[in-house]
Amino acid sequence: MQVKSFRGGVHPPTEKKYTEKKALVAMPPPGRIVIPLRQHTGAPTNAIVKIGDHVAAGQCIAKGPGFITTTMHASISGEAVSIKQRNHPVFRSCDAVEIKSDGKDEWVYGKKHPRERLDDIAPDEIKKIVTESGIVGLGGAAFPTHVKLSPPPEKKIDLYILNGAECEPYLTADDRVMQERTADIILGLRLMMKAIGVTRAIIGIESNKPDSIRALTASVAGVPGVTVHALHTKYPQGAEKQLIRVLTGREVPRGGLPMDAGVAINNVGTALAVAEAVIEGKPLVERAVTVTGSAIAEPKNVIVRLGTSFQEVIDFCGGFSKPPVKLLMGGPMMGIAQYTTDVPVIKGTSGIVALAAQDVRIVESQTCIRCGQCVNACPMYLLPSTLGILCERHKFEEARALGLMDCVECGCCTYVCPAGRPMVHMFKFGKLELFKQDQKKRAQAQKDKK
Ligand code: SF4
Ligand code: SF4
Repeated sequence: MQVKSFRGGVHPPTEKKYTEKKALVAMPPPGRIVIPLRQHTGAPTNAIVKIGDHVAAGQCIAKGPGFITTTMHASISGEAVSIKQRNHPVFRSCDAVEIKSDGKDEWVYGKKHPRERLDDIAPDEIKKIVTESGIVGLGGAAFPTHVKLSPPPEKKIDLYILNGAECEPYLTADDRVMQERTADIILGLRLMMKAIGVTRAIIGIESNKPDSIRALTASVAGVPGVTVHALHTKYPQGAEKQLIRVLTGREVPRGGLPMDAGVAINNVGTALAVAEAVIEGKPLVERAVTVTGSAIAEPKNVIVRLGTSFQEVIDFCGGFSKPPVKLLMGGPMMGIAQYTTDVPVIKGTSGIVALAAQDVRIVESQTCIRCGQCVNACPMYLLPSTLGILCERHKFEEARALGLMDCVECGCCTYVCPAGRPMVHMFKFGKLELFKQDQKKRAQAQKDKK
């Protein structure tokens, strides 16, 4: 089996030891959930339930307008008790539906399709089920999956890539899902291939997950067109553009999408969600989350109902063993720092990482010393040092011209910088300012038209 790699990147300590041998364990349904109406890329959803309504687990409670959006479902049965602004792990706050459990955990399911009759299901039906089940990419970006399964006709896609890299340090939920739900992942992959009309697929897994590589390789033995490739263990091996380049030699053009390189790509957890939606009629109401870090008493890989508070999930893992100095949603490279545990698990929550003082390096940002380490580390061939200085000086258009929008916010430059410069923060700030400027220009252009 060939081990493949890409240019740039870094080798942070993987720290997967806390949970890589821990089997997935389902957390009991919580007494209360908070479902934010925005958990995905695209238009926010609108609640379709009212305060006082009774809902069942699996029932749709919110829908979004247009095509690039999704649906939200209750993950427990009970009563909708509030619809108001709540804490959000990404957007700080957002409108959300709160549901108080009735303790019965009653479910409604969509239509079930027997495993043995899956060849009968039409591509459009698969897309319809994926749309109605609220499935989004579970690798972190939370892009609606039905959109990926419906590329414009002029985009010729000839390859599906299933992303099992899980390159973020600490996280192991995908690794466990690959070992424990192998057959369903392959089933989900085959359904997505059918939906998009593709006959060839590659599953990419970092070489530090030998059990997953073995399990999936054995499982695809009789599946035509599907192969498993071991990837070099290097961060950010799981970034879409890097993975596509490594596995196919193709480049996603600047500002383009995987479909521009003839590829459709999804995370292994997403494939599992697709299989569950089609076979069991179960919408996306729970996901695998790695709860780990030196401040967690009993690190675990947990199946969590969406909307459960971080605090409850942490309590399920024995609570904090040491005072947490840093709490993250996601891994330490791209994760989002949290200021409270009163935030809900959402569709994009791949991990909850709580670090004690010994694992947190607090450095004061200094002037760039032009060492060039960030340039060597950048997998997107950018000049992070220059981009950082331009963003600092509010020269956003110059930064755009130098490729700011191509930055995938992987954090490699921040990781290697000896001057402790908060590069990703500066890039996020620069992108946000450009977004605001562009929005203003569009609004002005609309006014001028009238
Ligand atoms: S500039 Fe962006 S893409 Fe390049 S290393 Fe830094 S965060 Fe990653
Ligand atoms: S790694 Fe840091 S100090 Fe070195 S060139 Fe890049 S920004 Fe400057």
